[in-house]
Amino acid sequence: MKVLVTGGAGYIGSHTVLSLLENNYEVIVYDSLVNSSIESLNRVEKLTGKKVEFIEGDICDKDKLSEVFEQFTIGAVIHFAALKAVGESAKIPLSYYQNNVYGTVCLLEVMEHNNVHDFIFSSSATVYGEENDVPYVETMKLGTPSSPYGASKVMVERVLNDLALSDSNFRGVSLRYFNPIGAHESGQIGEDPKGIPNNLLPYVAQVAVGKREKLSIFGDDYPTQDGSCERDYLHVMDLAQGHVAALDWLNRHNDFTGVEAFNLGTGNGVSVFAIVKAFEKAIDKTIPFEVSPRRAGDLPAFWANATKANEQLNWHAERNLTQMMSDTWRWQSSNPNGYLA
Ligand code: NAD
Ligand code: UDP
Repeated sequence: MKVLVTGGAGYIGSHTVLSLLENNYEVIVYDSLVNSSIESLNRVEKLTGKKVEFIEGDICDKDKLSEVFEQFTIGAVIHFAALKAVGESAKIPLSYYQNNVYGTVCLLEVMEHNNVHDFIFSSSATVYGEENDVPYVETMKLGTPSSPYGASKVMVERVLNDLALSDSNFRGVSLRYFNPIGAHESGQIGEDPKGIPNNLLPYVAQVAVGKREKLSIFGDDYPTQDGSCERDYLHVMDLAQGHVAALDWLNRHNDFTGVEAFNLGTGNGVSVFAIVKAFEKAIDKTIPFEVSPRRAGDLPAFWANATKANEQLNWHAERNLTQMMSDTWRWQSSNPNGYLA
């Protein structure tokens, strides 16, 4: 079966492409490379010994997308392509709604036109917003995220629900990721943020490798065990395998139509201080840090109830925190400048 992977050159996309190839799916990647490098896919090809078909293009370009659907017989789409920097989304919200919402609508239109109905969407724990109590469970109502980025994920989930109500052939899965970290165990592919990292692990890793002086821990006065925020960190290879599990689930359930949401997380909250300690232990080195004021929009703590994915997708996050840290370090220390060599 041929799977179209939008945004497949990016961080989660490249790891998922690797997992798909290892599970004998054929992969076509469609990516504008706005936040990634083609080198990630060259490395995936080397690691798997398999070919990745690559088309450079924007999901807002319906003509180009249509050509791809005409050229290949596509069985399903996994849709990663999006802009993802929470802070930036407040500065340029229109770009976020254009890319993440309008771009998704373009893709869905082209799919509909070509009678492709199976769709897996990169959603996020942020869709639960501030309103819901932890742990988050899929039966909760969509919340009100604090950023345009988060709002774009809620909007797309709504689009998918409305599409499913109107089109009895549509088969959608929203995978709500918690906090993916780590890298493939080879250290050959990993997260390669442009500029100053926004996320915790890339920042910690760049401090460890000497590219940044010290980590700022955003707040130590939250109502949590040690005062820093808690998140549900999961290994990116577990997350990648979650996509294979979701695709297998769609393929097993021929009679399914509609949209199903699944949380992909470990079910455990881990604090920022605990992450720093775990990283220090894994690499046997001290990470300099200072405590800074809270970051706007951060919630104190959230983690997943992942029972639905465990039971229905037969998926579990298997890799522990030590593996997440040592794989991050293997990637960062052997690629201090990311894919730029
Ligand atoms: P990433 O930036 O590494 O990957 C996104 C990819 O999409 C990049 O390769 C980029 O070049 C491409 N892209 C962006 N806009 C495009 C467009 N208009 N047309 C074609 N390609 C485009 O990000 P990631 O961390 O791999 O995230 C993948 C998806 O998962 C995103 O939808 C993101 O919102 C979602 N997500 C990520 C996290 C996380 O912590 N990384 C958490 C929850 C959800
Ligand atoms: N964080 C931090 N310093 C950083 C980056 C992040 O203390 O340089 C904290 C942040 O406040 C949050 C946690 O680490 O509590 C995870 O942040 P990240 O941006 O990685 O994920 P998200 O905010 O999406 O959960």
